[in-house]
Amino acid sequence: KMATDLEIITELEKEIRKKLKQNEFSNIMSYKLAGSYSIDENENIIGLNLQSMQISQFPSSILKMKHLLRLSLTDNQLIQLPKEIAKLKKLNEFALSNNSLTKLPPEIMDLNIKKLAPDSGSWGESEITLGGNPLESPPIEIVKKGRDAVIEYFKSLEGEKLPLNEVKVLLVGDGGAGKTSIVKQLLKEDFNPNEPQTHGINIRDWKVEDGDKSINVHFWDFGGQEIMHATHQFFLSKRSLYILVLDGRKDEKTEYWLKHIESFGGDSPVLVVFNKMDEHPGFDVNRRFLQKKYPSIRGFYPISCKKKRGIEDFTESLKMALNDVEIIETVWAKNWFNVKTQMENMTENFINYDEYEAMCVKENITEKSAQDTLVDFLNDLGVILHFKDFELLDTHVLEPRWATEAVYKIINSEKLAKGKGVLKLRFLDEILKKGKEIDFYYPRDRYRYIIDLMKKFELCYKMDKNTVLIPDLLEVQEPEFDFDFDSSLKFLIEYDFLPRSVMPRFIVKMHKDIKENLRWRTGVVLEDKVFNSIAVFKSDDEANKIYIYVNGDQKKEYFSVIRKAFLDINDSFEKIDAKEMVPCNCTECKDSNKPHFYDYASLVKFRLKNIKELPCSLSAEYVSIEKLLYGIERDDVSKEEEILQILREIKDKSDNKETILEESNKIVDLKPNIMGLGINLNELAKKWFSKK
Ligand code: GDP
Ligand code: MG
Repeated sequence: KMATDLEIITELEKEIRKKLKQNEFSNIMSYKLAGSYSIDENENIIGLNLQSMQISQFPSSILKMKHLLRLSLTDNQLIQLPKEIAKLKKLNEFALSNNSLTKLPPEIMDLNIKKLAPDSGSWGESEITLGGNPLESPPIEIVKKGRDAVIEYFKSLEGEKLPLNEVKVLLVGDGGAGKTSIVKQLLKEDFNPNEPQTHGINIRDWKVEDGDKSINVHFWDFGGQEIMHATHQFFLSKRSLYILVLDGRKDEKTEYWLKHIESFGGDSPVLVVFNKMDEHPGFDVNRRFLQKKYPSIRGFYPISCKKKRGIEDFTESLKMALNDVEIIETVWAKNWFNVKTQMENMTENFINYDEYEAMCVKENITEKSAQDTLVDFLNDLGVILHFKDFELLDTHVLEPRWATEAVYKIINSEKLAKGKGVLKLRFLDEILKKGKEIDFYYPRDRYRYIIDLMKKFELCYKMDKNTVLIPDLLEVQEPEFDFDFDSSLKFLIEYDFLPRSVMPRFIVKMHKDIKENLRWRTGVVLEDKVFNSIAVFKSDDEANKIYIYVNGDQKKEYFSVIRKAFLDINDSFEKIDAKEMVPCNCTECKDSNKPHFYDYASLVKFRLKNIKELPCSLSAEYVSIEKLLYGIERDDVSKEEEILQILREIKDKSDNKETILEESNKIVDLKPNIMGLGINLNELAKKWFSKK
């Protein structure tokens, strides 16, 4: 006789209790599952919540609950799931966040669940939530690509498979610290006391024998030019290993680099090398302090490339650390490897999509989704450069050096320096010409790709058909302009670390709004004709602050648009801490050029608690929270921002009156409640149109 579901619960209780006993969690040994499950009218279990139960093995009795719709095993210590999981035919929500899962059984994809959530997800969605698990198979990158990619991944593993054993090691640090020299030491090459400066990226391969496995290491050694930090975001990757090279100079930016690595590399391990110990034998940093602040640091290694000191020790530690890089354990299908090897061995600098496709088909990778997954993976490994949402999708760059060298050549060109960041495209012939034998060749029909790449990097924007502008190379001097700072809405964004690329990227993003060419290296003046408002941005790179001032008829509306643009850029960095600040308006601060600032998020919190006033820490005068927030906070900020963003997109895309009115009406139809926000969409659209 089959057990009823309620009998199964008793069984499950026993099972869990038995395990708990083994684990000596005696305090919850008597735990009853009452309240942790829900039943339908026939007393079938349909929901079960086993969150935080110290479960390390999937309780098999659950597999008998054929009617189960929702199951939470969040915050346990599960290492594996049984492949019988597919028996839970009805399961529709499956929470697995914060466990110790490294592998998922392919059968999990047979569940009737629509989505995989690489984060903690949310209840009420038909998804498997997987955040907080050290997933290796499928790798979390694949999970992020969605259900189809995961199915493809599992399918690809059905035949012969091999571990990837390949890893990218990135060297960062100021120019001249010794990055190139260290790579040469690791490769047992001679030390060059006159090592020339690296331009672009220098990629070297290293084979490491470790027991019975051999690991292919790719060193990515970057040139030190500061402007190139902006391109780092496309090459610094997660699941890599980082070597930070310091050489004991006084002005060394140790924490700048550590934050830089953290923001692009996530939790990838970092080895910190003190080079040139022959010159600075006493050099050290506050190791304990740094280690605590940046837990990814694996160790500190004083070395000298010149005197060959500490190299062996460092090599051993590096080999050990390689095993901590997650991607190393990932398994790949044999035919995926074949495609990879072929691509690595090609002598062309780029291939078209058709060629790639043909190569895949030859290896029997025929599904489009499998080809897409593989190409993304090859991109993550640095075998090729490929951008998914890119206009010129048909080009895959096989040689990342080919692409970066072009960007370096353009950015470092004399023409551009003279033009203060303005580049006439007709100069490209001269800038990209093959001078030396070792230079890459850039056919004319690829210029557009390179310029588009730079746009994609947010390094430049198009001014007209023949001209682009690179804000990073703009005039340093701030121009003179009229602006009523006193009556403006003021705002400040304070970073724990302000990446140099934030302001240029912002200028690129908002270039359509730039007022009368008022742009310089650390700031810009924007104007929006619809809102009839003007905004000034200034960044203070030393203080890690960006100041924002807005004036005009609809300054609040304009402010929320630009604030959103900023937050988007901030969001693109991992672990960046940007605090939004509002200046005090007490009698003392109002006229001061050094007013006290309040944390915007706290003000909103205070107001929610009905706190009306708070004292200024400079004047001790009480100021009204409502007044501080006036103009910045609105009742329904997020919704308003959303609408403004939609409007902005319409505005960018279309210049036809009918379309705009039509689109505006669509928004009103879809979101009738926005009318309560005080924006008259039709008015806005008309006004915009009449300005043309
Ligand atoms: P990179 O710009 O970080 O790649 O640095 P390089 O490897 O090009 O080194 C910069 C300069 O420092 C070169 O002239 C090297 O010869 C020199 N150098 C590198 N390592 C050492 C070292 O351990 N001791 C001394 N004295 N000089 C070094
Ligand atoms: Mg170098």
